[in-house]
Amino acid sequence: MTPGIQASFTKRFADGPVIRAENLHASTNGVTVLFGPSGSGKTTMLRCLAGLEQPEAGQIQFDGEVWFDSDSKKIVPARKRNTGFVPQDYALFPHLTVAANIGYGLYGQSATKKKARVSEIVRWLGLDKLETRLPHELSGGQQQRVGLARAVVRRPRLLLLDEPLSALDTPTRQRLRGELRSQLLQLGIPAILVTHDRYEAAALGDQLVVLDQGLMLQTGPVADVINHPTNLAVAAIVGTETVLLGHLTRVSDGLATVNVNGHEFTALAEDLPSGANAVHLCIRAEDVILIQNGGAPASARNRLSATVLALAPEGPMMRIELDCGFPLKALLTRQACDELALKAGASVVALIKAPHIHLIPR
Ligand code: ADP
Ligand code: MG
Repeated sequence: MTPGIQASFTKRFADGPVIRAENLHASTNGVTVLFGPSGSGKTTMLRCLAGLEQPEAGQIQFDGEVWFDSDSKKIVPARKRNTGFVPQDYALFPHLTVAANIGYGLYGQSATKKKARVSEIVRWLGLDKLETRLPHELSGGQQQRVGLARAVVRRPRLLLLDEPLSALDTPTRQRLRGELRSQLLQLGIPAILVTHDRYEAAALGDQLVVLDQGLMLQTGPVADVINHPTNLAVAAIVGTETVLLGHLTRVSDGLATVNVNGHEFTALAEDLPSGANAVHLCIRAEDVILIQNGGAPASARNRLSATVLALAPEGPMMRIELDCGFPLKALLTRQACDELALKAGASVVALIKAPHIHLIPR
């Protein structure tokens, strides 16, 4: 028996692309992120897993239990799969209070039991004092929590979240990323989450599945996929940033010091929740400056000795892979590469300004 979701299926809408899950695996540990541009088939895959949509062919299993099998014509209906589904717009009932929205799923249970379970979830998600409000009296972030509360109230075996933060404004979204991940881990329920935002994928996921035009292009641990896209399509979708796992060692004067393999990075500490320890450092290739080895002092807070591994032309630019004891990618004009006489094997110094290191708490 394979724990978690194991699925291979195809689904096609009239006039739409074929959406094909090929050996899609979501383990019972942690969060699996389905990541891809709009229209790549993320929602459809999620709805097929939930039983809200039927594939034309294939098989879906959870913990070895068959949920769908086109050969034997077995279809377990959505309500018997016991998944918690959070749709993209949360789909809260506008005329029901927060408590009633959350309790709605607890049909068939006594009023006392229902009340106790709703209070438990309300307390856990910090929704106390909001229980009697209607959805339109809540902020976006509060609505998101009610959506999550409603999905988990029946203690589902699997959580399915469709772009859970996309309805929120940017600052709220950034704030809630870390919060949502710790909530999902605390729950201990395996989760499959859909997003088109690479920072969200990096912040929330353990495993990443990159989708494009209905197909799964690459799967693996989040940092592996982002740092080592196996083809150009994946590279374009994930943005080929450098993503490094580091540990916060100090925060003072608004600056964070982060250790990656013995190297200390300085970044801005904004948006870091207190108590953060493990963080992902995200660095865009175009934010890396290269200077000659032994170059003059510079204002950039991060100065790394690097060896050039490879150069690849990209329009007027050159994409450069560097080894700093960890992989780092830079994007320079060809002119700059010529002036620095860059070639494979050359030693250089890489500079990165503190505000150009994006920290994502894990
Ligand atoms: P995503 O969630 O990644 O944006 P979707 O799964 O919503 O992608 O859509 C994938 C493709 O399937 C798109 O081309 C979309 O137009 C099509 N599609 C999705 N739902 C339906 C539907 N109910 N009827 C027809 N086509 C659909
Ligand atoms: Mg969608």
